[in-house]
Amino acid sequence: MPIERVAIIGLGLLGGSIGLAVQAHLPGMQTTGWDSDPATRKRAAERGLVGAVCDTAPDAVAEADLVILCVPVGAMGAAAAAIAPGLKAGAVISDVGSSKQTVAKALAEALPGHPVIPAHPVAGTERSGPDAGFASLFQQRWCIITPPDDADAAQVAALSAFWEALGATVEIMTPQHHDMVLAVTSHLPHLIAYTIVGTADDLEDVTQGEVIKYSAGGFRDFTRIAASDPTMWRDVFLTNKDAVLDMLQRFTEDLTALQKAIRMGDGQQLFDHFTRTRAIRRSIIEEGQDDARPDFGRSDHGDG
Ligand code: NAP
Repeated sequence: MPIERVAIIGLGLLGGSIGLAVQAHLPGMQTTGWDSDPATRKRAAERGLVGAVCDTAPDAVAEADLVILCVPVGAMGAAAAAIAPGLKAGAVISDVGSSKQTVAKALAEALPGHPVIPAHPVAGTERSGPDAGFASLFQQRWCIITPPDDADAAQVAALSAFWEALGATVEIMTPQHHDMVLAVTSHLPHLIAYTIVGTADDLEDVTQGEVIKYSAGGFRDFTRIAASDPTMWRDVFLTNKDAVLDMLQRFTEDLTALQKAIRMGDGQQLFDHFTRTRAIRRSIIEEGQDDARPDFGRSDHGDG
């Protein structure tokens, strides 16, 4: 299944980055795009995020072999309904949403008869909007593809080749497995960061500016994650509810165990726990998924 024309719906961080990466790595491929926000469409055209920014969703997808929905997960159903009247027969529909079971269901319901092959590039930053995208976002990052059981193997292979051309390494898994793994590696860390930054903010009255002043002690690394887009993350928690609640339960139990070790003065338990977690950090650096520099190389990219 050759992919010659790609339509990108939603021209923010992910959509803009895909558009720029296609132009950089697949120069023969045509790109069109649409966003529901006219100001975003204008800015996307000025930045040249895609070859042509269209005025309507059906126009954007009319010629496309592959359509990638890059909108918040809660807006996937609405975006799919908007493109439906313009899709050509056989066009493959994919997305970049951070949760997969709910999105797969929403897309299949909105687009009966069209092949839907969801995907999630595990790459992003805390920035959003049409100015946030950059062509190298997917370099050395994973892209998880979650095909339905009856997916066409040639279409899955074509989508995998597309993501590999943009610099990603593809992994195939079920949507259920994706949602469980991402709940612990991405969704729970974001929830913890949102919580701790809120707690510190509530304390600001007491500490009178010292939380910001001494933030290099660890707090500032949480603030980067807690600056992530509120719409995107609201939708992630609402659409991956079961897996997040399960991981949160486990986390709470482990936190309580550490709380008890502190109260009981059990230094050995604390030391053993921190030694185990330090080894995990080393493996992440060895796998090339982060940077050993003190700022984690955060000036140019993050995760998602
Ligand atoms: P973003 O920068 O906010 O871009 C999303 C764009 O979609 C916005 O311009 C938004 O317009 C537009 N939009 C909203 N509803 C729409 C609709 N119904 N039809 C057309 N356009 C619509 O967000 P993003 O970070 O690129 O995230 C997009 C998707 O990627 C999400 O599903 C997210 O879960 C996933 N993802 C994000 C990251 C990350 O780190 N950011 C990483 C991996 C995957 P308005 O602003 O006017 O609403």
